[in-house]
Amino acid sequence: MIELTNVSKTYPNGTKGLNQINLSISQGEFVVIVGLSGAGKSTLLRSMNRLHDITEGDIRIGGKSITQASGQQLRTIRRDIGMIFQSFNLVKRSTVLRNVMAGRVGYHSTLRTLLGLFPKEDTDIAFEALRRVNIADKAYIRADQLSGGQQQRVAIARVLAQEAKIILADEPVASLDPLTTKQVMDDLKRINQELGITTIVNLHFIDLARAYATRIIGLRAGEVVFDGPVSEATDNV
Ligand code: ADP
Ligand code: ADP
Repeated sequence: MIELTNVSKTYPNGTKGLNQINLSISQGEFVVIVGLSGAGKSTLLRSMNRLHDITEGDIRIGGKSITQASGQQLRTIRRDIGMIFQSFNLVKRSTVLRNVMAGRVGYHSTLRTLLGLFPKEDTDIAFEALRRVNIADKAYIRADQLSGGQQQRVAIARVLAQEAKIILADEPVASLDPLTTKQVMDDLKRINQELGITTIVNLHFIDLARAYATRIIGLRAGEVVFDGPVSEATDNV
């Protein structure tokens, strides 16, 4: 489902973010990428959604090259990819429901989106997504009134409303306390199991990776230094 071939990313200032990465991730996997700060985790995730261009190699999503894709092709591929960030990236002054409806934007024309004219079906989809992360009772509350853990669950609901087939989560729990961390990771895992959404999560801590991953990829200085099942991962992958 996701195929990286000889992928390298050198930033304009000469820093090598990724060096010759080869990876193949199948549908439904729950992969955790671990590594110290600066190892390239974020660069890898951002490359998979082409939030930036890679400098070498190719990335294919569902058989289609995201590296070569034109504007319209890129929009179509991206509809299948939901992003989750450490900082939640919600529209703070908007309601929870509106934030989740933003996941539907890719399905409508720009004009409809600008006017906020979403069909009723979209509201149903948004509520179903909110229910899946147990936060439907907050639908009409402003996003910035919620706790960090609740905001991250709204971000997960937005990805569900998007009907993404892949979730890329970049340090989704880095700003959350241990209890909330567990809730958010549990949600991601449950969604992966119930809906079969391919999930790739960047994490700082190997213990957390062990608890949730089916496969761990260890990065160091932009290179894959470990790739295997949890049972084979040592503390210094
Ligand atoms: P993290 O460790 O969570 O990946 P960073 O603090 O390294 O976050 O990066 C925060 C932001 O700064 C990101 O947008 C990243 O692309 C950018 N950044 C990181 N390192 C550099 C650098 N050496 N030069 C320019 N921008 C950088
Ligand atoms: P991680 O997510 O594992 O903390 P990153 O992918 O953020 O690592 O960073 C990998 C390397 O790329 C680091 O050396 C970082 O400083 C560098 N880097 C990240 N973003 C930028 C940027 N925008 N410009 C230059 N260097 C960057």
